[in-house]
Amino acid sequence: MILRQDREICLHLGEDPYEYHRAVIPPIYETSLFVFSSVDEVHAAIDDSMAQFAYTRGQNPTVQIVEAKLAALEQGESCKCFASGIAAITSTISALVTHGDHILFINEIYGPTLSYAKRLGRYGVTNDVVHLLPDDDVSEALSKAVKPTTKLIYTESPSTCLFKVVDLHKITSFAKAHGILTAIDNTWATPLFQKPLTFGFDICLHSCSKYIGGHSDVVAGAVITSKELLGRIFDEYMLHGATLGPFEAWLVLRGIRTLPERMAKFHEQGQYFAQFLNTHKRVLAVHYPGLPSDEGHALAQKQLTGYSSLMSFELDITDFDDIRTLVKKCRIFKCAVSWGGFESLILPMGRKEDSLSEQRLVRVAVGLEDMNSLIEDLNFAMA
Ligand SMILES: *Cc1c(COP(=O)(O)O)cnc(C)c1O
Repeated sequence: MILRQDREICLHLGEDPYEYHRAVIPPIYETSLFVFSSVDEVHAAIDDSMAQFAYTRGQNPTVQIVEAKLAALEQGESCKCFASGIAAITSTISALVTHGDHILFINEIYGPTLSYAKRLGRYGVTNDVVHLLPDDDVSEALSKAVKPTTKLIYTESPSTCLFKVVDLHKITSFAKAHGILTAIDNTWATPLFQKPLTFGFDICLHSCSKYIGGHSDVVAGAVITSKELLGRIFDEYMLHGATLGPFEAWLVLRGIRTLPERMAKFHEQGQYFAQFLNTHKRVLAVHYPGLPSDEGHALAQKQLTGYSSLMSFELDITDFDDIRTLVKKCRIFKCAVSWGGFESLILPMGRKEDSLSEQRLVRVAVGLEDMNSLIEDLNFAMA
């Protein structure tokens, strides 16, 4: 289900053709700087570089349109776009923690995010990862895992390898009671299928390189939060120089226009493909919260209004070479990292050196190709 207002946001919000010669498409403001008619004006703009146009490292009109849309879709106060998803994540984390602080990660987290957290150890910031099952007592588990120094609780739900779902409300009510900030990476669901700020999260993060951009032609990221927190993150962002270029912003904008149509189709394709995998005799398990048999399904039904099309499954193999052969035999599914574009992708999650049970895990991003062709492709490869 996609909200009526979300379609309007994707198509029109933040745009005004009368501002740019009545062009229906906003221009790519490919400029590094903006000129002023007085010293006072330039100084005022420099002092308010987050909102005013002074220098494109701070703010740019094309980028600002994307930010207005993403803030509105997440029902947040404000948004800042970044040169990549990981730039949004690392700038946010480093803006919020300092020497002596602790970060608590919940469940499976995007690898580079954890690598960054580990690096922060050099600056005296520690972290732990706690794993929660859908039926666990969240408050009890978190009580054991937090420290007096915990500043930030960070999670992904659904996560992007095993697609674990956590109880968003329970996490934020625990965090609020303990004065801890909460952040979530919402890339899998997109703001169309899940709005974490409405569950009480302080910060919502996105890689726009996935479904939001949607055409595998741009790398971008975003953070959506309160004005107050964004001000702190913006200072960090300016010093990291993690700016999204106007052309990249324009590509993201073009992707957003069809986001509701694409997500509705990905929902349909994902459900269908997961059912196919679930009944295939060579598949031992499917990880996808959209399947009624999935352990996270009941919780997912309360938190998500749709399911995207990235999932993983475990194959009955006896040797990693079987996975290599399977990938080679695919014609439509291409072997690659990332996901969320129009094209179907396949990626073994395990490596040759892992144990057999880890070698079995394969991730697929179901694209927009014909469903019967996709099923035929994987059926042939798995035979
Ligand atoms: C891809 C991804 C990121 C990083 O985004 P980039 O745009 O590649 O930097 C962060 N989180 C998740 C869940 C991702 O899938």
